[in-house]
Amino acid sequence: MQTIDTYDFKGKKALIRVDFNVPLDDQFVITDDTRIRAALPTIRKVVAAGGSPVIMSHFGRPKAGPEDKYSMRHLVGHLSHLLGVEVKLAPDCVGEEVKALCHSLKPGEVMLLENLRFHKGEEKGDVEFARQLAENGDCWVNDAFGTAHRAHASTAVMAQFFPHDKMFGYLIESELESLDKVLRSPQRPLTAIMGGAKVSTKITIIENLLDKVDNLILGGGMTFTFIKAKGGKIGSSLCEDDFLETARRIEEAAKAKGVNIIMASDVVAADAFSNEATTQVCPANEIPEGWMGLDAGPASIARFREVIGQSGTILWNGPVGVFEMEKFAAGSIAVGQAIVEATKKGGFSLVGGGDSVACVNQFGFADGVSYISTAGGALLEYLEGRDLPGISAVRG
Ligand code: AMP
Repeated sequence: MQTIDTYDFKGKKALIRVDFNVPLDDQFVITDDTRIRAALPTIRKVVAAGGSPVIMSHFGRPKAGPEDKYSMRHLVGHLSHLLGVEVKLAPDCVGEEVKALCHSLKPGEVMLLENLRFHKGEEKGDVEFARQLAENGDCWVNDAFGTAHRAHASTAVMAQFFPHDKMFGYLIESELESLDKVLRSPQRPLTAIMGGAKVSTKITIIENLLDKVDNLILGGGMTFTFIKAKGGKIGSSLCEDDFLETARRIEEAAKAKGVNIIMASDVVAADAFSNEATTQVCPANEIPEGWMGLDAGPASIARFREVIGQSGTILWNGPVGVFEMEKFAAGSIAVGQAIVEATKKGGFSLVGGGDSVACVNQFGFADGVSYISTAGGALLEYLEGRDLPGISAVRG
C-alpha cells in the first residue's frame, strides 16, 4: 500500500479529499478554522514533494445545485493565508474547464475545487461523477476522517480509478494510529469511560468494547437505565425503559468476558434540571421521588479516579454528568483530571465524540491528553467495529 511518505508526488496533480466543513458567521467569516488547519500538513507535504494539490471538500448542506452561501470562495482567502501561497479557486469541481485548469497547475501551485455537494452525484456515490472528479488528478489522497463513514463519490467511490495511486493523508493516518493504540494494541489495563445521555446511542460501541477493555466506567444519564434494571430507585433520572433488558444483557456479557464494570455508587441529585436546583448526594440506587441524578457523587468520583489512575490506556467518550451546568460538572472535571494525570505517567489517552471533546476543551485538558478525535459519526462507527468505506477504499 502507498503512503503519503513513500509516494512520489513529483510533477503529479494530487486530488486531496479534506474536510473543510467549517462554521461561518453571517458575514461569511470563518469562526473556527480547526478543520482547515488540520489538513495543512498533508497539503504542505504534496507541495514540498514537487506535486500540485487539488483540494476537494464538501461545505454546508446545499440543497439543489450551487448556492453562493456554500461556495468555497468564502474559504479560499483564509486557506491561501495559512499556506502562504495564492490558492486558485476552480469554478466547479468537474467538467472540461476544471480538468484543463487542474492539468495546467505547475509544481507547488494549489487548486481548491468548488463545493462537491453542488452535485447530487457526490452524496449518491455516483460512479460517473467519481470518474469525472478522478480525471482532475493523478492520485487520490483521502484525508477526511470526518466523512470516512460515508460511501460518497470523493470519499470512497473514486478509489477505483486509482488502484495504485491512493493513500491516506496525515490526518487519517494519525487518527487510525491513535485508534489502533486503543483498540488493537493497548497498554493494559485498558479503560473505557462511556458517558452521555442515552444508552441507546452507545450500545453497539459498548458491546464492541467488551471484547477489548479491562475496565468499563459507565457514567452520565445512561447509568440510570442500568441501575433501574437491577431494581434500584432512580427517581425522575433519565431512563430508557425500552433498554432495561439490553442493560442486563450488557452486564451479563461483561461478567462473562471478565470486564470490570464500574458504575456510579452515589450521585449528585437535583430537584430540577437546572443550575439553580437544590441538590443532595445520595446512593445511586436510592434517589428520592421527584429528584434526578445529574452528576457522579464523591464516592463514585474517587473510584473513577482510582481506576483511571491505574490504566495504561484510556478511551473517553461522553461526560459523566451534565457538565454544561457548573453544579453538575465536578464528575466530568475529575475524570478529565485523572486522565491527564494518567497520561503524564506514560499512559495513552484518546478522547472522542462531540461532548467529551467540548468538555476537554472547556476545562482546559486538551494539552494533557494524548489524542483528541473530532470525527463525530465516523469515530463512533469505528468504535462500533464497523468497516468505514473511506478507509477500506484506500486499503482494499
Ligand atoms: P451524548 O451526546 O449522548 O454523549 O450526551 C451528552 C450529554 O449528556 C451532555 O449534554 C450531558 O449534559 C448529558 N448528560 C450527562 N449526564 C447526564 C445525566 N445524568 N442526566 C441527563 N443528562 C446527562
